[in-house]
Amino acid sequence: MLLGAHMSISGGMFMSLERGKSIGCQTIQVFTKNVNQWKAKLLTKKDIEDYLEHQRKTGISPVVAHDSYLINLASPDPESYEKSIEAFFIEMERAEKLGIPYLIFHPGAHLGSGEEEGLKRIADSINWVYKRARGFSLKLLLETTAGQGTNLGYSFEQLARIIDLVDKKKYMGVCYDTCHTFAAGYDIRDKSSYNKTFEDFDRVIGLERLKVFHINDSKKGLGSRIDRHEHIGKGMLGIEAFRLLLNDKQFKDTPMILETPKGKEMKEDIMNLKILRGLITL
Ligand SMILES: [Zn+2]
Ligand SMILES: [Zn+2]
Repeated sequence: MLLGAHMSISGGMFMSLERGKSIGCQTIQVFTKNVNQWKAKLLTKKDIEDYLEHQRKTGISPVVAHDSYLINLASPDPESYEKSIEAFFIEMERAEKLGIPYLIFHPGAHLGSGEEEGLKRIADSINWVYKRARGFSLKLLLETTAGQGTNLGYSFEQLARIIDLVDKKKYMGVCYDTCHTFAAGYDIRDKSSYNKTFEDFDRVIGLERLKVFHINDSKKGLGSRIDRHEHIGKGMLGIEAFRLLLNDKQFKDTPMILETPKGKEMKEDIMNLKILRGLITL
């Protein structure tokens, strides 16, 4: 199994790789810019070279990127929609330059304008960015969401609908967040619910589109629609769900990335990774 965690880029992009290596990650997730700002400092040639050299040295692969939380590709407000698609395209360029294969993003929040309208706007944005992204190999991964507020992407049908409306379908994939999907109402806590959920995913979206897992336990219950990450085995999802996932052969090459709360020293990541590795009996 390919296990890792989200890593800070403080001190430079390459530092994320050093941090990941120091706690034994095989794969990591990064932001490619300050996540709380619209502006992004240009990546210099040196930033990119340092990063690529550290990636070679550490052997961490793949590195996946997550976009800024400010971006809302479903926004009904023309000004914030425009700002969002421009910023999203810049994030795609940054990821492409760093040789990152996947950019993960929350589909968007319709803010009262209606679900179908929101889903269409998300697909329109993707069609817009891909017209400008000539020659990119980067794929975009829609993240499963908890469906908090007016956030879209809380059902497999909604994700399938977006993909259906996108022209360049071969660039589309999904990131399955175990906390979000559980909060959205999909159970995986025992063998039969686990099988049913992934059969549903396969029937509605297709398992070949599932490219990355975010592995988080959930503070809130099944169908709560509330997005609160918890340490592995300490939440409402519980340890059995992770045992099933980590021993599922069909996902043995799918990156599994922690996004659980942590401090600077990453003790929590070390603990969660140890628990996860201890579950593997494959
Ligand atoms: Zn996530
Ligand atoms: Zn979350």
